[in-house]
Amino acid sequence: MGTPVVEAGSFACTHGGKRKLEGLSGKPGAAKVPLTVSGSPVVPVTAAGGLGQYENCGFSDNAGTLACSSTSITTTGATKLTVGGSSHVLLASDTVQSVNTRAGTITATVTAGQSTLTAK
Ligand SMILES: [Zn+2]
Repeated sequence: MGTPVVEAGSFACTHGGKRKLEGLSGKPGAAKVPLTVSGSPVVPVTAAGGLGQYENCGFSDNAGTLACSSTSITTTGATKLTVGGSSHVLLASDTVQSVNTRAGTITATVTAGQSTLTAK
């Protein structure tokens, strides 16, 4: 069982930064997402990874501040729930990591954005 993440959700890095997921399904080249929960589209794994700034990330070192700028996702593929034909839906239980060229790759906190739908 897992909780599908919708665009109302977000990722948070350990430095207090937050990456919003709004508009991910509208990205150029992204699969159109036909499934919504409480009016918010579910987030495909393929759209959630990659570039995307963590707003208000407070990381800094001797070289100055540098916000986490992308996301790495490791999905168990446990869910059979797919969108756009092939992309798995991101679950709150998948491993999501914030990527920062100086701070490194660190496990991020996932907020699903909904609690009405669960998936096997
Ligand atoms: Zn950060």
